Amino acid sequence: MAGTAPEPLFEKIALIGIGLIGSSIARAVRQKGLARTIAISTRKQETLDEARGLGLGDFYSLDPIEVVKHADLVILCIPVQAYGQVMEQIGPWLETGAIVSDVGSVKQHVTRAMLPFVPKGVHLIPGHPIAGTEYSGPSAGFAELFINRWCVLTPVADTDPAAISKLSAFWTALGSNVETMDAAHHDMVLAITSHIPHLVAYNIVGTVADLEQDTQSEVIKFSASGFRDFTRIAASDPVMWRDVFLTNRDAVLEMLGRFLEDLAKLQRMVRVGDGPGMEALFTRTRKVRRSIITAGQETAAADFGRPHGEAPTITGPSGTIEFNGSPAPLLDVNVEVDQPVREHGGGDDA
Ligand code: NAP
Repeated sequence: MAGTAPEPLFEKIALIGIGLIGSSIARAVRQKGLARTIAISTRKQETLDEARGLGLGDFYSLDPIEVVKHADLVILCIPVQAYGQVMEQIGPWLETGAIVSDVGSVKQHVTRAMLPFVPKGVHLIPGHPIAGTEYSGPSAGFAELFINRWCVLTPVADTDPAAISKLSAFWTALGSNVETMDAAHHDMVLAITSHIPHLVAYNIVGTVADLEQDTQSEVIKFSASGFRDFTRIAASDPVMWRDVFLTNRDAVLEMLGRFLEDLAKLQRMVRVGDGPGMEALFTRTRKVRRSIITAGQETAAADFGRPHGEAPTITGPSGTIEFNGSPAPLLDVNVEVDQPVREHGGGDDA
């Protein structure tokens, strides 16, 4: 006997921005039946056409006002510096009782950018799925992106608890573990777990890019010795990461200060030949990695699960990656195909 399909959580979800994150949400919402209608808006006609071609939504428009009308959930999935302008446009058209949220990698800035344009009776609940890859655009998304990843919600004071529960249920249905915290705390935590690692990666790869041509070719040739892991992070979207450093400056500078102090201590250990000091530090850092694996946030496979041996064949469209016939566990850029790499903390992560 056929069962009755459960009621969707939302009647109409409006996604503004349909790149990696927006299109992953669209795919997962469709797969899980979380909304009756998915309405999509983006800035460029070509991106809208791509989203339409992929069948990501039910309604498409270049005008964000057209998609937010009658939506009970609106999610901004665009670079954070663009929020103010978009919110000013859509604010007057937000439905009373609707939840307006986002996926931006910084939270204090976006709250400040959104709040002035949120009408009374609309629930502002900023969010950040700590999930991403270094790829961009509608084709880069996949429905499984959020599974077993954290999604942090940073509701403003006095937000209706029922609205927070509903948005939590939404992210839980996408496969995420949900945590609620203060926006300032989020920005400090992410500065050290995501933003500084990206800054370091951009810097190392930038240093190599400036090296003499001869040395560079050796660097590329022997890159498996650690450098290539930085290159993946440093391939993350330039606009998104520019915005992260422009909008989370205080927390990044605070954590960068600590990082540089510790680097100076390590520099001294190397200079004076402090073997026990280095061994003690490296033993502690190894434990950190083990605890991340135990928490299910990373694979325990050697070399990040990279295949060693025959070159793999990859089939299936983006989002349904198949690796020699079975779903890919974790791919990395040494697999020479244009497919997303699962990441947390953001190729993104952001
Ligand atoms: P993406 O793949 O580059 O997609 C960006 C989307 O935003 C596109 O639809 C693009 O539209 C639109 N857009 C770009 N500039 C815009 C502007 N000035 N005004 C209006 N729309 C604009 O980016 P993404 O990786 O999905 O990132 C989107 C958001 O997710 C960012 O706020 C980022 O902080 C956050 N995030 C990213 C990750 C990650 O790993 N990538 C992880 C967590 C959170 P057009 O193509 O039409 O211009």
